[in-house]
Amino acid sequence: MTRLSAITPSGHVQLGNYLGAVRRWATQGTEQDVYFISDLHGMTTPHNPQRLRSLTREQLAVLLAAGVEPRSVFVQSDLVRELGALTWVLECTCTYGEAARMIQFREKAAGQSSVRLGLLTYPVLMAADILLQGADEVPVGEDQAQHVELARALARRFNGTYGEVFVVPNPVTPPSAARVRDLSDPSRKMAKSAEDSAGVVFVLDPPELVERKVRRAVTDNLGQLRYAPQTQPGLANLLEILAACTGKAPAELADSVGSYAELKNAVAEAVVEELRPIRAATMALLDDPAELDRIRAAGAVRARERSQHRLAAALRLSGI
Ligand code: ADP
Repeated sequence: MTRLSAITPSGHVQLGNYLGAVRRWATQGTEQDVYFISDLHGMTTPHNPQRLRSLTREQLAVLLAAGVEPRSVFVQSDLVRELGALTWVLECTCTYGEAARMIQFREKAAGQSSVRLGLLTYPVLMAADILLQGADEVPVGEDQAQHVELARALARRFNGTYGEVFVVPNPVTPPSAARVRDLSDPSRKMAKSAEDSAGVVFVLDPPELVERKVRRAVTDNLGQLRYAPQTQPGLANLLEILAACTGKAPAELADSVGSYAELKNAVAEAVVEELRPIRAATMALLDDPAELDRIRAAGAVRARERSQHRLAAALRLSGI
């Protein structure tokens, strides 16, 4: 059983990425699983080359520091030739109508005067990511479910037209993970590429900065310490973050603290402690570029080996 997940280097890894995804990859992942830094997807909107390269390295270091199995991790662009080849074959398996129907494309392209063609075709690259690695399951949120459906359709169509090559992947709902919201605006999720990062806690933020961001978190003036996501979203978010760090239930935590200020102190302390070892291990890896390069190269070799026979068969059967 192979499960595949990715993180895009469009910003620094934030607390939501960690509590909602990376921590689970580290604790529940198996050696068969595949985790990658999707830097090729980071090029679908205007990007800075140096920043993309350094964020890719940083995200790789964070995943390893968090304890994700090194043999399961690779950087997407280390397989750019393989993925480029398969993406072309799959683009010639996909119709324009299918690509243009993607809700994410329509949302991201809306109102833009100029859109990179890669923004339209990136779901096909995502299908290549999934099919090349032979993933059985792809845990995704609602926003990515349509893309996994496209990968399924392309796998079936290719297999039916040219011969059985690809595993048909299943989209799965990830086990109820923490949904961390922006501390300054709890109506939106915490995101690494947010324009205003005042409410975004980054995994590599120094402890004082984490404390400051948590202390400034938006709550309410009701003065009621209870877990009420609908009416008190800011407070509920803090309780959920504390719950994710302590393993206790948010409602139980609401009963155990005396004031909003006390809750913020508890959240700041728990987050700082949760992130401390990961921050230290990330720094150590970034300070040892040769070691990081060695792990990265080994991950790429393994990802290439895992996919080689499928790519060769897909090229041969489609007439190349
Ligand atoms: P971002 O939205 O920060 O750019 P990605 O789209 O690269 O993050 O997602 C990487 C992983 O992190 C995905 O599994 C996604 O579900 C998870 N994730 C992202 N933001 C949050 C959040 N605020 N809370 C929980 N999980 C999140």
